[in-house]
Amino acid sequence: MRSREEKKRRRPTSIELGERELLISWQDGHRSSYALHDLRLQCPCANCGQARGEPHGPQLIGDELPIVTAASVNPTSEAKGFDPVGRYGIKIRWADGHDAGIYTFEMLRDFTIE
Ligand SMILES: [Zn+2]
Repeated sequence: MRSREEKKRRRPTSIELGERELLISWQDGHRSSYALHDLRLQCPCANCGQARGEPHGPQLIGDELPIVTAASVNPTSEAKGFDPVGRYGIKIRWADGHDAGIYTFEMLRDFTIE
C-alpha cells in the first residue's frame, strides 16, 4: 500500500506536449520535463525493448509477438500527441505511427532528473 503523499507524487495535474519536450506537473507541486528524444529511446514497448537488446519479460503483453520494425530501429522523436491510458499512464503517438509504448506515471516520475 502506498501513502497519500506517494500517490500525489505519481499523479499528474497537467501534461503538456511541446515540440521537443513533454512537461508534467505533479500533484505534489513538482514539475518535470522530458526530452522527447530520450522518451522515444526509452520506449517501454516490447518491440523497442527487443530492438535495444533487452529481454522481453514483463513488457510482453498477452501472446503478441514482439517484432522489430523499422520504426523501432530508427525512431523519430517527433510526437503528434498523447493519449491517457487508464489512470496510470500515457501513450505517445509518434510521427512515424508508433504508439505501442505505455509510459506509466510511476516510470515518468522516476525518470525525473532533479
Ligand atoms: Zn516502442
